[in-house]
Amino acid sequence: MFPILRQIARIGCITEPAPAADDALRVTRQRLDAAMRAKLGRALVIRHVDAGSCNACELEIHALGNPYYNLEALGIKFAASPRHADLLLVTGPVAKNMEVALRRAYDATPEPRLVVAVGDCGCTGGLFGESYASCGKVANVIPVDVAIPGCPPTPLDLMRGILAALGGGDGESIEAAADTPIAPTQP
Ligand code: SF4
Repeated sequence: MFPILRQIARIGCITEPAPAADDALRVTRQRLDAAMRAKLGRALVIRHVDAGSCNACELEIHALGNPYYNLEALGIKFAASPRHADLLLVTGPVAKNMEVALRRAYDATPEPRLVVAVGDCGCTGGLFGESYASCGKVANVIPVDVAIPGCPPTPLDLMRGILAALGGGDGESIEAAADTPIAPTQP
């Protein structure tokens, strides 16, 4: 007991200080909330599809659920089935083995469905490009509404991309606010 207390007194608190409040995050959260109410009149449900990612994009998506970004507090949830989803969030270049599965997930998502391609791989095929094993960018397989560049994009970029898909932000103001542009794509 005493050795432990001595150790605590000697080392002190070694956790990092809490991050400062981020105005850009606060504004994006408010705009997301307003866009969901205007477009859907309710919360947003996302189906994430990993079409062949290296999984770094997934780490950033997972960060959206932590207490800092706290996406669930806005009512935005991830669903296990595309049948329950409003928006498909697709990562990675589309591996040939995932091509049919991605098309099926798209077909199973009820209209009006939204598709957001995540990361340089989702936008362009990235490092992997097109090959015997890869279909390249997501738009080569299904229609994409918004593409979020970055390798990987930050959680704030992901939130801005979802906001752009909901029509809650014009491209210019999002581009001005983001480190990397969020590119709405043509159908
Ligand atoms: S964009 Fe970068 S982080 Fe995302 S899947 Fe491709 S290589 Fe990985």
